[in-house]
Amino acid sequence: MENEFLKKVKARIDGSIIITDEEIMAPHLIDWRGNFKGHAKAILMPTNTKMVSTIMKIANDENQTIVPQGGNTGLVGGGIPNQTGESIILSLKKMNSIIEFSPVNRTITVQSGCILQRIHEVVENENLYFPLNLAARGSCTIGGNLATNAGGLNVLRYGTMREQCIGLEIVLADGTIINELTNLRKDNTGYDLKNLFVGSEGTLGIITGACLKLFSKPLTRVTTLAVIQKFEHGLKLLDRLQHQSGDQVESFEIMPKTLLDIVYKQFPDISHPIKLETGFILLMEVSSSKLDKFESSNLENYNLRNIMEIFLENSMKENLISDAVVASNEAQRKAFWAIRENAPLATRKESWPVNTDISVRRDKLAQFYRHASNEVAKISNNSRICGYGHVGDGNLHFNVVEAEEGDPDWADKRGAILEAIYSSLAKFDGSISAEHGIGQLKTDQLIKTKDPNHYRIMTLIKNSFDPKNILNPDRIIK
Ligand SMILES: Cc1cc2nc3c(=O)[nH]c(=O)nc-3n(C[C@H](O)[C@H](O)[C@H](O)COP(=O)(O)OP(=O)(O)OC[C@H]3O[C@@H](n4cnc5c(N)ncnc54)[C@H](O)[C@@H]3O)c2cc1C
Repeated sequence: MENEFLKKVKARIDGSIIITDEEIMAPHLIDWRGNFKGHAKAILMPTNTKMVSTIMKIANDENQTIVPQGGNTGLVGGGIPNQTGESIILSLKKMNSIIEFSPVNRTITVQSGCILQRIHEVVENENLYFPLNLAARGSCTIGGNLATNAGGLNVLRYGTMREQCIGLEIVLADGTIINELTNLRKDNTGYDLKNLFVGSEGTLGIITGACLKLFSKPLTRVTTLAVIQKFEHGLKLLDRLQHQSGDQVESFEIMPKTLLDIVYKQFPDISHPIKLETGFILLMEVSSSKLDKFESSNLENYNLRNIMEIFLENSMKENLISDAVVASNEAQRKAFWAIRENAPLATRKESWPVNTDISVRRDKLAQFYRHASNEVAKISNNSRICGYGHVGDGNLHFNVVEAEEGDPDWADKRGAILEAIYSSLAKFDGSISAEHGIGQLKTDQLIKTKDPNHYRIMTLIKNSFDPKNILNPDRIIK
């Protein structure tokens, strides 16, 4: 018998937005890492906000649970329905139009299903720049980026997704449309509702549109790989480069040798631009919207490349850096980034790693790294610690990969390893989720670690926006 909710959607919108074909549904029912698998009655693919509003009105009347989904690149299972098969996935993928692009106002307004990379391409044609950048850029959507408050490769300079957003359009659980799609940079008219929805992971409302800030397109980029022996040297170098470049550091990533070995093993075609026997490599990028001409003979007129070279020279003299290579063209720059961007896939291919997404204040990060590594070694002394990531933001994917020779007890040890990392994190007052969100993966951990008063207010907010708990239930709030 046909479900009442779907019958009403068919009658009030159109049956063509309903997908029940198992083959088409399959990729929407499993997450990128393959850790979460779910079932759903159907997937709905509306094309405009009015349709989303009608869907939510019907869902609210019929007590139908809805799981919003964008590009399904999330890493915490937030967009995957549970196993019961009772939920409906609401995919925003077909809502992918650009509503308005104003180079003079430096804003772009889009439907939430727009793919991140498309926005990069559109604005760069006008010499503008939308800074959010992550390896999933070709599939993730602006709605998903906002719902997870995504971070990525250049938070250091531009901030997270929250800081890129000027206005939002949201559909609430009962179908009410909140049109806050303003393109005003300054608007102090009462409570800022939009910031409640950024990072709410589909639990408070459906993001259907967004107005985003644009910047001048960087015309000069200097990208460098450098070898360091100690994690703390990386943090010292970051501080120095921020000062010396006049805060023009856009990205500052760290990768240990263990990770590099895995990336090279899993992707043999990736080039090896620098030799690393022990320690870590830093991937540093400074950028400017000013066109830089290389003027090495004129040190008075420092340009970015000069600055980077002087920085490297001095750091080598002080034994903070043992080797470095600066990309001499765009192809080489891409080759450097390929190492970093293939890291998540490489570790996934190598084994079933323990993945985390933690943050610790920058001046305590090296201590945390040592402490957590020692604690993990007590449980599995031959596992491979791959703490890599956006070190400039105090954010590490402190991941642990099974020993190369294999470990018959790996499945049993994973829980204890995660526990050891989280206990270390608690000692350093860190966060269990720096940029990926909470989703299904971390809801229990959130409840354990969040200040109870804060969590109680979050529950009140959830109850007032979604009293019937039909939007992404059991994620963030339980
Ligand atoms: C290879 C790889 C690299 C990554 N690198 C980074 C990184 O560097 N930094 C980083 O922050 N993240 C990173 N991520 C994860 C990141 O969360 C996602 O890439 C992205 O932000 C999610 O967008 P999406 O459209 O795929 O959302 P989905 O995965 O579809 O959904 C994510 C969450 O948002 C909700 N949601 C989606 N769309 C909407 C909407 N319109 N309204 C309300 N709720 C919605 C879903 O219910 C779910 O809870 C990476 C992922 C991969 C696979």
